[in-house]
Amino acid sequence: MTSRIYAAGLLLYGPAGRALVGGAVLVDGTTIADVGPRAEVVARAAPGTPVADFPGAALLPGLIDTHVHLSFDAGPDPVAALLAGDDRTLPFSVAGRARLLLDHGVTTVRDLGDRDGVVAALRDAIDQGLLIGPRVLSAGSPVTIPGGHCWFLGGEAKGTDGIRAVIRRNVAAGADWIKVMATGGTLTPDGPAPAEPQFTTAELTFAVQEAHSAGKRVAAHVHGAAGVEAALDAGVDTLEHCSFIAAGGTGAGPEERPDLVDRIAATGTYVCPTYSGSLDLAARSIGPERMRPWLDVALHQHERGVRLVAGTDAGIRGAGFDDYATGLEWFGRAGLPADVVLEMATSRAAEALGLGDRTGRLAAGLDADLVLVDGDPRADLSVLRSPALVVTRGRPHLPPAAAERGLG
Ligand SMILES: [Zn+2]
Repeated sequence: MTSRIYAAGLLLYGPAGRALVGGAVLVDGTTIADVGPRAEVVARAAPGTPVADFPGAALLPGLIDTHVHLSFDAGPDPVAALLAGDDRTLPFSVAGRARLLLDHGVTTVRDLGDRDGVVAALRDAIDQGLLIGPRVLSAGSPVTIPGGHCWFLGGEAKGTDGIRAVIRRNVAAGADWIKVMATGGTLTPDGPAPAEPQFTTAELTFAVQEAHSAGKRVAAHVHGAAGVEAALDAGVDTLEHCSFIAAGGTGAGPEERPDLVDRIAATGTYVCPTYSGSLDLAARSIGPERMRPWLDVALHQHERGVRLVAGTDAGIRGAGFDDYATGLEWFGRAGLPADVVLEMATSRAAEALGLGDRTGRLAAGLDADLVLVDGDPRADLSVLRSPALVVTRGRPHLPPAAAERGLG
C-alpha cells in the first residue's frame, strides 16, 4: 500500500471556519490515515514515508459537483448534439468530460440524467480502475411525463404504473439516485413551461416512496413555486434549480415566496441552485443589474437557513466541464461568504449526496479525495480554477495545465 504525506501552507477541512496553517495529510492507499499539524503527522507516520511539500498552497477536500450531465456537450445546443451524435463514441466523450472535471479539482459528481446507462458504465470503469476519474453517481434516465422535460433521455412515464416501471428500470440498470422532473424546463421547449408542474403531488409522493423502498434517494428538478411545494410534500431529498421562476417566464423576475423558503429550510432539504458559466451568458444577455433578483433567490435561501450545495448542470449551454470554479464565483457574487461556498462544494455537498462518511472532509478514515491549489480560496475563489494537484481515492493526478506550468 502506497503511503504519502501531502503537506501544505494551509489546510481547509471542508466545514466553514475549519482551517489549519502548516498542516499535512497522510494518505495510505485510497484512504486518509491522518490529518493535523505537519510535524505531528510526520512524527506519527512510518519512518521514511515520503513527504510532498507545498508551502504556498492550500489543501482541501476534493470538490463535488452535485449536478452534471456527462452525456451533454456544453455546446450551443446540447440536446441536438446528443440526438444527432454518434452512439459508438458517446462513452468516450462521457469519459473525457469526467476527466476534465477531475483536471479541475472535482473528485465526485452526481450525474442527473443520461440515457442508455452510459454514465453507470463509466462509474463502473472508474471504480474498477480502468480509467482515472472522479467518483460518479448516476441517476440514469430522469422520470418525466410523456413528451415532458428531457423526454428524449428515455424516462417517459404515464401515471403511477409508468413511474414505477421507469424507476425499476433505472434501479435494475444500476442507478444510484432517482431523478424526477417535477416541473418543465428550458431545455425542452415543446414541453411544459418551467413554472408548470409535470406530476401531481400524489404521483411525486408515489415516486419518492418507490425510490426510497429501493434504497435510492430522489433529486427533483423544480423551477416554479408550485413544483417546489409538491416536491416538498412528496419528501424528495434534493431540489435542483429551485429558481422560483414565475408563470410569466423570466421577464417577470422570480416569485417571492418566503413562506416556502422557510419550509425548505425547516425540512432540511438540500438545494442545488445550479450555478455555472451559464450565468455569464445570462448576464451578457440581460445585463448585470437584471441578474440581481435571480441571485437574490439563492442568497435569501441561504439567509433563511436553506442548505445550499454547489452543482453546475455541466453539459448544458455555457456550463463547461472545465469551469467548475465559475459557479462558485457566482455564489460569491450573489453575496455568500467564501468559506460557506467552499463548504457547499465539499462537506455539505457530500452530506447531500449521502457520502458524508466517505468524502468531502479532511478526516482520518475518509477516502483520500484532495485538491491542492496555489493561494487561499477563502480570499479568492478563482484560485480553484487551475489546481496544482488532484488526488482521487488516493491516486495522484497532475492536471495538464499544472504539468505545463511545471515545464515552464
Ligand atoms: Zn440538469
